[in-house]
Amino acid sequence: MHNKTIAELSQGLSAGEYSSTELTQDFLRRISTLDKKYNSFITLTPEQALAAAELADQSRAAGNAGAFAGIPMAHKDIFCTNGIKTTCASKILDNFIAPYDATVVEKFKLAGAVCLGKTNMDEFAMGSSNETSFYGPVRNPWDTDCVPGGSSGGSAAAVAARLAPGATATDTGGSIRQPAALCGVTGLKPTYGRVSRWGMIAFASSLDQAGPIAQTAEDCAMMLNVMAGFDVKDSTSIDRAVPDYSQDLNNSLEGLRIGLPKEFFTDGLDPAIAQCLQAAVREYEKLGATVTEISLPHSDLSVPVYYVIAPAECSSNLSRFDAVRYGYRCDDPQDLEDLYKRSRGEGFGREVKRRILVGTYALSEGYFDAYYLKAQKLRRLIKEDFVKAYDEVDVIMGPTSPSTTFKLGEKTTDPVSMYLADIFTISTNLAGLPGMSVPCGFVDNKPVGLHVIGNYFDEARLLNVAHRYQQVTDWHQQTPEGI
Ligand code: GLN
Repeated sequence: MHNKTIAELSQGLSAGEYSSTELTQDFLRRISTLDKKYNSFITLTPEQALAAAELADQSRAAGNAGAFAGIPMAHKDIFCTNGIKTTCASKILDNFIAPYDATVVEKFKLAGAVCLGKTNMDEFAMGSSNETSFYGPVRNPWDTDCVPGGSSGGSAAAVAARLAPGATATDTGGSIRQPAALCGVTGLKPTYGRVSRWGMIAFASSLDQAGPIAQTAEDCAMMLNVMAGFDVKDSTSIDRAVPDYSQDLNNSLEGLRIGLPKEFFTDGLDPAIAQCLQAAVREYEKLGATVTEISLPHSDLSVPVYYVIAPAECSSNLSRFDAVRYGYRCDDPQDLEDLYKRSRGEGFGREVKRRILVGTYALSEGYFDAYYLKAQKLRRLIKEDFVKAYDEVDVIMGPTSPSTTFKLGEKTTDPVSMYLADIFTISTNLAGLPGMSVPCGFVDNKPVGLHVIGNYFDEARLLNVAHRYQQVTDWHQQTPEGI
């Protein structure tokens, strides 16, 4: 059962082949035996899961259940879950039980989904390898000496190891797409504003966006159907009708205009990865697409711009962790300043502190104009490159990640090489555009992801483009040995 997709499980539940209780027990058993190897979960919620499964079975029996009723899944531990520990993988929130559900969590509950637990991640979603987690790194199911990518490494590894058929994730600079690529699963970062950020612990508010990770584009569409929509509680969510993302999956790709940015296909790109991408593009040509070279001339600015804007926003967002109202508090504080200093000093990890320091510096008097304002101006140029490109093409394709998965510890001492892991994904967040990573091959038995970037609110087309490719290829169906 564990290799089935969400769509297949939904059909099986409708046909009465198994109950949600049986499914949930099966996944919980798998997690308890296998996750010692991967560490993809921080918290498991078996009691709540089984109670939700029973309710879903009842509503299915009564004939009033939707497609998601009784489907087991997992939430990244960045989403607040009422009554359940919500840590953002930080020591500073190790004792935090959220008093409410994030909108995304609430929507899955209303749809009847069964939450198995909370997945591991980089601390406050800062990282590309899942090694900054207070709860220890996640291991890639394709090679347990290697990282799953980050920051949604737990969600991607859990889906790859078939410990959950789908998981929520978030993406500030690549954190859905890069781990999806490194774990051989499918991930979608929607347009900024498409999914509510309410109750999702903030990292960089102008960049953060939630989305699904699953085996297939079809499943991502089912998940986005649940997640998307306007929320009065999030002033950046957009009041715009939500289409049925499952409806256009099979549309013909005849005449689809694909743009390949010349800046993404340079000599620096690993030739083995380039070969996988070329083969994928050939499949699209067979499906009727036309391919043109385009240019995104400001691409090389995206990493430096991001590493001013994201730390600046995080330094402000993370000031709320003051040890006064909730979270970790140091022992025996002498006075208020000592309480702040030691609680934050002991509660945050190294990477988080690095970002807070950089961000505070960039926002400080005298440097604001030179760094933050300048970065915002360059961000506009990066966005305008895309706007111009979409006059000529419908989607843009390239690599999701410059490399396949790498060894644990390989990049931890060199933050800049870690930051470059998102070189192909970050510009999409700066522009607010939707992007997907779709499995498109293997290099030395390590998965490779095809990055497909869409125009604003064009998620239905992205899902259609990914789904048609998954109908003619089977990369997304491959599983690590023993799974
Ligand atoms: N790797 C990037 C960072 O460390 C992006 C993380 C993310 O998308 N949350 O900031």
